[in-house]
Amino acid sequence: MRNLRRRHFIKFGSASLIASASAISMPTIVLGAVRKVVVIGGGAGGTIAAKYLKKSDPLIEVTLIESNKTYNTCFMSNEVIGGGRKIESLNHGYDGLKNRGVNVVHDTASAIDIDRNTVLTTSGDRFEYDRLIVSPGISFKMDDIDGYDSVAAEVMPHAWKAGAQTSLLRKQLLAMDDGGLVILAPPANPFRCPPGPYERVCQIAHYLKRYKPRSKILVIDSNDKFSKQALFMQGWEARYKGMIDWIPGTETGGGVTSVDSAKMVVSTDFDDFNPDVANIIPPQQAGDIALLSGLSDSSGWCPVHLGTFESKIHKGIHIIGDASMANGMPKSAYAANSQAKVCAAAVLASLNETEMPEPSYVNTCYSLVAPDYGISIAAVYRLSEDQSEIKSMSGGLTAIDASADTLQREVQYAYSWYDNIVADMFT
Ligand SMILES: Cc1cc2nc3c(=O)[nH]c(=O)nc-3n(C[C@H](O)[C@H](O)[C@H](O)COP(=O)(O)OP(=O)(O)OC[C@H]3O[C@@H](n4cnc5c(N)ncnc54)[C@H](O)[C@@H]3O)c2cc1C
Repeated sequence: MRNLRRRHFIKFGSASLIASASAISMPTIVLGAVRKVVVIGGGAGGTIAAKYLKKSDPLIEVTLIESNKTYNTCFMSNEVIGGGRKIESLNHGYDGLKNRGVNVVHDTASAIDIDRNTVLTTSGDRFEYDRLIVSPGISFKMDDIDGYDSVAAEVMPHAWKAGAQTSLLRKQLLAMDDGGLVILAPPANPFRCPPGPYERVCQIAHYLKRYKPRSKILVIDSNDKFSKQALFMQGWEARYKGMIDWIPGTETGGGVTSVDSAKMVVSTDFDDFNPDVANIIPPQQAGDIALLSGLSDSSGWCPVHLGTFESKIHKGIHIIGDASMANGMPKSAYAANSQAKVCAAAVLASLNETEMPEPSYVNTCYSLVAPDYGISIAAVYRLSEDQSEIKSMSGGLTAIDASADTLQREVQYAYSWYDNIVADMFT
């Protein structure tokens, strides 16, 4: 995968070189007008868009508005839940971006004044932009599961935004008696990190097998199939035989429909369950600021032009990462990273009135079945001819009959992937 990434960088690098070179002769520069880009959300998408814009053209004033001073990666958070990693190792700060000249503002964007090209924050500040990039991640459709709200989430954590929720789920597993029942309920597609719930099943099973071997995991799925399913199921059979019971959506009537967190009851249309630990992952939609600003459609996600990530609803605003409808790509950190680079190149081209380079995209997703057992999926994409899809051109999965050595190596690749992506985001 290293080659694929390098190719992508080179492509972006050369595109930005061309764009920067042509910027020197741009009338705006001659007149001294400062071009302003505001980025909302300093996660997997926003950090990269901000960094690569600034890097490509230091004359652009790039402001990144991010609510939190520390970003907790969801990626590798399942390993915290399984006990293989400390939560602190997921924490990253913004000094690297500040050192690059990005104006990092820790505040929450509360509204976008579309007529005045201005972002308003909860502190009352206003930030004007020529182009706006929005990468706010997801919010939860709490109403879709009866009884599941922010109070219930403190009893039945989703742990789908890393941080306190991750630690809470870990704590509950530690407190559970041997012989307990853990329910894990993945939401209906599309959602953040399609293989994530099934990697989490592995990580929980790994912990239980070692410390509470009489315990069981029941996966009440909303879907009938899932990412890397054959590989995951093979891993469950090989390492956690008899511990995991997966019920597909058709057999549960579409997954969990209601919870009673006071009585610890989880219900589907057909059954009620009394778990000891319940990891309820609610259905998802774009982050609040995208919904509030009218950037989403009735699906809850934001329609975009796939070659530039410019909103199909509001010109001059780009949406990247989980919040966008990047047809053909999964909602992953690596996809957000790739989209951010395409988007940065598009914003640069539009500010400099140069031609947008032909985009290409990449995604890889590793999952840790056990500390010595990793699996992965990878793809390289191009924009389809009619521009309606980001189309996988090549890629692959870990082979179903991979050797123990290969599975072990996938774990090392996963760790190296993590180090590389956070270095790309924060340094
Ligand atoms: C358990 C789990 C495991 C995962 N594992 C992987 C993996 O192995 N590989 C992978 O590629 N992906 C993985 N992912 C998916 C990955 O975390 C997301 O796809 C990725 O973070 C999306 O990037 P984003 O920029 O859209 O959102 P985020 O990374 O969530 O960033 C959004 C940022 O915006 C900020 N924000 C939101 N609204 C505002 C506002 N109004 N004002 C200011 N700031 C705001 C938030 O604080 C946040 O920092 C995993 C996810 C989970 C839950």
